Amino acid sequence: MKCAVKQLLKLNPADEAHIEAQMKKCNKLYNLLVEKANALREDYIKTQNPKIVKMLYTKYGLRNLVPSIKAEHPFLKSVHSSPLKNAALQLTESIQAYQESRKGKRKGKPVGWPGFRSHKVKPMSLLYDEPTKGFKLEGKSLTISLGKSAEGKYLYVTGEIEQSVDEIADAAILNLRIKKEHDRFYAIFSVERSYRQTPESTPEPKRIIALDPGHKILAYGVDNTGLATQIDNFPGARYFEQQLDNIKSKRDRCKRKSRPVEVDGKVIYYKPSRRYAHLDNCYKKLLQKKRDSTKQMLQTLANYLSKHYDVIAIGDYTPHGGGINRGMRRSMNNLSLIGRLKTAVEWTASRSGRKYKEWDEHGSTKTCSHCDHKLTQGLTPNIRWWTCPSCHTHHHRDENAARNGLKQTLLKELPCSGQIPQLTLRHRIKFTGRGLKILEIAACQSAKAKVLTRSEARRRHSQRKGLNSVPYGAII
Ligand SMILES: [Zn+2]
Repeated sequence: MKCAVKQLLKLNPADEAHIEAQMKKCNKLYNLLVEKANALREDYIKTQNPKIVKMLYTKYGLRNLVPSIKAEHPFLKSVHSSPLKNAALQLTESIQAYQESRKGKRKGKPVGWPGFRSHKVKPMSLLYDEPTKGFKLEGKSLTISLGKSAEGKYLYVTGEIEQSVDEIADAAILNLRIKKEHDRFYAIFSVERSYRQTPESTPEPKRIIALDPGHKILAYGVDNTGLATQIDNFPGARYFEQQLDNIKSKRDRCKRKSRPVEVDGKVIYYKPSRRYAHLDNCYKKLLQKKRDSTKQMLQTLANYLSKHYDVIAIGDYTPHGGGINRGMRRSMNNLSLIGRLKTAVEWTASRSGRKYKEWDEHGSTKTCSHCDHKLTQGLTPNIRWWTCPSCHTHHHRDENAARNGLKQTLLKELPCSGQIPQLTLRHRIKFTGRGLKILEIAACQSAKAKVLTRSEARRRHSQRKGLNSVPYGAII
C-alpha cells in the first residue's frame, strides 16, 4: 500500500535560503497563472470561445502555458521543471474542485474560485513527482536539483534526513515533496510498502472492541472478552492551551505591531516589531510542539488498538458547537481529538489487516444495555451513574453506551455470538509522552469514586517521594 514517510530535512542556512527561494518562485508562477486564469475566465464569459475551455478546464491546459511564462520571466528557469509543473497542476486541481463544488458533485463545504497565494501564509511545497528526476537519495543524504543558473549551470543542494528510507520502507520511492512548516523543512517521501496481512480465517476467536467517544475522556471502550477500557485524553491539552493563550495575548497586546520601512521617503513595506516577531515565533513553535505530541499519542493509541483487536468500532459522533459556556464549547471543538483518532485508527487498521467500523450512536446513552429499556428523557452530561427503572441495573454512563455499540457491532460481525459477556475487568489507558501506561480501575465498582483534594494529593505525592512534609521548625 501507498504511504508517506515524513522526515526532518537538515540543511545549512544558505541551502535553506535556496530552497525557500524556489518555493517563492513556484508561488510567483502560481500567482501569474491565477492572473491568466482570471483573464481567460472573463474572456470565456464574453466570447464563449471553446478554445478557452480547453486551456482552462482540462488537466494539462494550464501546465502547457508554463513554457511561455518561463520565456517571459527568465528567473523561473532556476527552478526544476517538476515543482514548476506541479504548481500549474495544483491550480488546475483547485479550479476543478471549484467546478465540482458548483455542480454539487463535491462533498463538504463549498469551494470558491482559486485566489492568489501568499508565501508567508502558506508556502508552496516542492513536488518532485518522478522517482528518478530532480532528486537523489543515498543513505541519509538527499541531493535536490534546483534547475539552471543564469549561466546555464545546473544547481544542487544537499541535505540530510534523520533516517534512511531503506531502513523503514521495504519498497520503492514514488515521489518526494519538500515542505516548509513554520521554520523547519521536511522531506516527505511517497513509498509503496508491503504489509503483512493477517490470514482471513484466524483460528482464534475474533476480538472486537466498541469505543464510545467522550469529552472529558477521549473514549470508553468495551470488548467481547469482558474488558472495559477507559482512554484518557491528551494529558498536556490544558497546559498547551494555557501557554498558547498567554503568548498570543502578549503578542496581540504589543503596542507597536509593525513599523514602516522607508526608502527615499516612501513606505516600501511594514516590518513587525522585534518583540512581536519574537512572540509570534514562540507561538508557532509551541503550536508545532502540540501538534507533534498529539500526533504521537494518536499513533501510539491506534497501533495499540490494531495490535489487540481484529475489529475496532468507534461511535459516529462528531463534536459540533453546543456546550453550556465558552470554555466548554472551546474544549468540545478544539481539544477533541476523536476525529483525528478515527483517521489514525482507520489507517493503521487497514495497514495491519484489521477492520475499522463506525457504529450508530443515536440514543445509545439513554438505552439500557441490559434490557433495552429506553429512557424518555436524555441524561444530562453531569450524570455519570444511573439505574435502569425497568431492570434496576446500575450503569456507568459511558460503559453503557459502549456496550450498546458493542451489541450493534457484534450483530454485524459475529451474528451467532449471542449475549455480550459480563464485564470482568476495567482498565485505564494513559499516554505518558513516551508510551501508554495501563492502570487498573477498582473505584469504578462503586457509585462514588473517591476524589482526592488538592492538599491530600500533594501530601501523598511528597510521601511517595520521601520528602519531608513536616513544617519547618516543628519539634518531633
Ligand atoms: Zn434495564
